[in-house]
Amino acid sequence: MSTNKFNFGKLKGKVQFEKNLVYCRRGLNELSLNINNACPNSCVFCIRDRDAGWGVSNLYLLKEPTVKEITNAFDSETKKIRDSGVKLTKVKICGYGEPMLRFHDLFPILAHIKHTNPRALIQLTTTGWPFFRYFSKDISKIKDLKNGGLTDVYLSISTPNKEVYKKIVRPGIDNYDPLAFDDTIRFCIAARDVGLKVTLGFIDIAGLKEKDAKEFAEKLNVSYKIRKLEK
Ligand code: SF4
Repeated sequence: MSTNKFNFGKLKGKVQFEKNLVYCRRGLNELSLNINNACPNSCVFCIRDRDAGWGVSNLYLLKEPTVKEITNAFDSETKKIRDSGVKLTKVKICGYGEPMLRFHDLFPILAHIKHTNPRALIQLTTTGWPFFRYFSKDISKIKDLKNGGLTDVYLSISTPNKEVYKKIVRPGIDNYDPLAFDDTIRFCIAARDVGLKVTLGFIDIAGLKEKDAKEFAEKLNVSYKIRKLEK
């Protein structure tokens, strides 16, 4: 897949590239996998434009890591965690970008996590709509993720309002994708219906009202979280 059309964050070229494929923001029992930097959105609030790695790491990658590099990094980090007596409870497949762009690679990564840590929850953090644009119109393929071992989806929709979404998420970057918002909802429904636990992620900007986020999530019968904008 050509990566020319993707957004890599404004710090690209300004920070040193690193090889941090696994990082930890919420305690040793939760690990995040940094599998890519490319993203087909251009969110006005994107952390990558202000920080090289959530204030905890440098997540800018020199190149997209191979599946083997990712699973090796995961194994060495989980060994450290085990050796320190902590039980790994959750693995988040994130990227400092949109991990859905590596849809096919998600399967060997999921299989590895599931094989080595059968009790851990495995969450994909995504904006949803890229599934339809870059991989398949066949909604039934979302079930493959569940069958592959995925348990949770953190679906970053950012706002319950389509017009606000256009302004703050800017799907398609310079070529606004008018179907992205509705496709994200389609992804949400399909993921929920195959039994994945879906949490809609909203961001506390652009006058977001909690009652609107709550109502939106309740209509879709999924959970939600409102994230504060990191400085
Ligand atoms: S979806 Fe995430 S990585 Fe992509 S531009 Fe938005 S905040 Fe940045």
